[in-house]
Amino acid sequence: MSYDQNNIFAKILRNEIPCKRINEDAHYLAFHDIHPKAPIHVLVIPKGHYINAQDFHRNASPEEITGFYKGLAAVAENLNIQEGFRLISNCGLNGGQEVPHYHMHILGGRQLGPMLAA
Ligand code: 5GP
Repeated sequence: MSYDQNNIFAKILRNEIPCKRINEDAHYLAFHDIHPKAPIHVLVIPKGHYINAQDFHRNASPEEITGFYKGLAAVAENLNIQEGFRLISNCGLNGGQEVPHYHMHILGGRQLGPMLAA
């Protein structure tokens, strides 16, 4: 499977569609999810073109990986979710991934309950 240049997050990265931007640097962009599943629901995506977690972890450079995860930590730090939060990355069909550009969900702002609904 090759990277789809027309996926929605690629368009957000190219500023072709808007997003509620939180922060970014050379390695990541953080923005609010359009359909929040919790009081805080933020997406953090790498600037590079990686389809999913497996693609990113296997093929991104050490600088890209470090930059992305340091960015993720900085974003989480600034979201006022010291009481706890959840990181989720859906991967592929069975993982329920809808957008084929690697992303991490940051969810928080309330007690999130069990890890899976069923
Ligand atoms: P996935 O199911 O791939 O892990 O998550 C994709 C997420 O992207 C969903 O939570 C969905 O609400 C969010 N999303 C889809 N389209 C857009 C969009 O155009 N803008 C923003 N900000 N989020 C989107």
